[in-house]
Amino acid sequence: MKKCSNTCCTRFYNVKNWLIERCDDLLNLFYPRLCIGCGEILNKHEQDLCLTCLMQLPVISESKLIENFIEERFYGRVNIEEAISYLYYEKETMSQHVLHEIKYHGGKELGYRLGKMFGEHVRRAWFQQVDALVPVPLHPNKLKQRGYNQSEWIAKGMAEELNVPVWTDILERSVENPTQTKKNAIERWENVRGIFQLNCNRDIEGRHLVIVDDVMTTGSTIEACVLPLSTVKDIKISVATLAVVD
Ligand SMILES: [Zn+2]
Repeated sequence: MKKCSNTCCTRFYNVKNWLIERCDDLLNLFYPRLCIGCGEILNKHEQDLCLTCLMQLPVISESKLIENFIEERFYGRVNIEEAISYLYYEKETMSQHVLHEIKYHGGKELGYRLGKMFGEHVRRAWFQQVDALVPVPLHPNKLKQRGYNQSEWIAKGMAEELNVPVWTDILERSVENPTQTKKNAIERWENVRGIFQLNCNRDIEGRHLVIVDDVMTTGSTIEACVLPLSTVKDIKISVATLAVVD
């Protein structure tokens, strides 16, 4: 078969791209994509959040992170090397809309993108000697129902920036517990105690693992993950959550 010349190919791809862009424009005209934060129509280069909302994300400053206010939540409970979050989580604000989109409305790609931003934010000062990221697992029934684990997608985004693997075969959630929303600190702990087990064929002795979750409130879910892991010899555990309730 006769091979097409380079010029011909370039023209074909230019026309193809032009057609794709016009189809996108038309689709956007009838079914505009809206910003999760403010509800305004997104331009074609924006995804999920408009640039204004992206700039207004309530990112926790490095100076605040250095105060270790997240790590302090685990004092007297479990040993944690480092604990970092990216955003402040507040009800009825953009951070809640973003986290709900990731968790309840299929926004796994948004979770991945924010995970990447989180990874870029922390890689200079934190998690220098880390072996892997371990997302908080969902119960298999919940995973089937939702179709994805939001914490895993956040971890995948972070992993790309931190250049470490994501291990999903370390922990398993054996109990399908009710949602933690509307529970106080004691009820939250009672709700998650003993629901995670080690399920690991890997040699994780002496490893430094980072548990990744979407939102941290009292830290009880993370604590329930740390307890079975802390039975492993010489293991080091850190924590990264996309958002934290201040
Ligand atoms: Zn917006």
